[in-house]
Amino acid sequence: MKNLFKYTLDNKRYHTYNYFLKTKYHQKVAKVTLNADFTCPNRDGRLGYGGCTFCGSQGAGEYAGDVNDDLMTQFVSQSQIMRRKWPDCAFIAYFQAYTNTYASVDVLKSRFEPFVGLDHVVGIAIATRADCITEEIAAYLADLNTRTDVYLELGLQTIHDETAKRVNRCETFATFQKGLALLRKYHLDVCVHIINGLPGETYEMMLETARQVGKLDIQGLKIHSLYIMKHTKLYYEYLEKPFPTLSREEYIALVVDQLRLIPDHVVIERLTGDAMVSELYLPEWSINKTTILNDIDKLMVKQDVYQGDLISPSIYIKED
Ligand code: SF4
Repeated sequence: MKNLFKYTLDNKRYHTYNYFLKTKYHQKVAKVTLNADFTCPNRDGRLGYGGCTFCGSQGAGEYAGDVNDDLMTQFVSQSQIMRRKWPDCAFIAYFQAYTNTYASVDVLKSRFEPFVGLDHVVGIAIATRADCITEEIAAYLADLNTRTDVYLELGLQTIHDETAKRVNRCETFATFQKGLALLRKYHLDVCVHIINGLPGETYEMMLETARQVGKLDIQGLKIHSLYIMKHTKLYYEYLEKPFPTLSREEYIALVVDQLRLIPDHVVIERLTGDAMVSELYLPEWSINKTTILNDIDKLMVKQDVYQGDLISPSIYIKED
């Protein structure tokens, strides 16, 4: 069956991150994950305590560098390992752990500026919360963006405030949209993260999250399944009172349905998460990422569907 999708180099039916990086930088680009020793407003008491119930002790940065090392040491040690595999690789310095704009502009400068103009570094990716974007921070990031490529990653997880409350996100969809608007006012690229399988959510609720995310002015999307990591609040909640979790088949079918609601210009940076296996309690099926991605591809072919085809059906004239 002919693949009509434009934004892929490897016959996918969604806009791959590989396509984005290769067409923009014309070389292999890898992300180096860093821990810049920030915290979160829902951990330190500004908005709440304890953080999101699913979040591990590493603040969603399980693969980030060791916070006891300075940022450059973290960067050099990881980039050297990657260079063994990809000798000509360029890098994006990825500030992954915790909320990487939860500080004054002076502190942010001290973390980000050393990576501007560094050999082989083409950009900086910054994971954060929308409620930790102020006008001053957005203006600084816009200035930074004139000197290196800046990519913002915003955790949303769900558009449903009742779910966000249940998992202690301490942020509403309305607040998220305000932070996003501020970043877009300064023409900063934003990738949004969503999680499938949050407690209490139905298939239709998760689909609705994708539907609303598809209407936002965003440039990238990461979709994860919920991971119940050992010793998180969610883990103890689950042990006490188990809630339904998604099966592998449900997750794959849901992701395909969600992709159809996301415009084709939005880069799909991830369709499965990267839980630390030793810390993972559930779902066990999530460990084998490659087969999940393959099965998403197969289902899209079987159903003859594409990213965004439900919102722009005229692009995809189906063959007989
Ligand atoms: S906002 Fe992010 S880093 Fe902070 S507790 Fe929630 S998931 Fe963890």
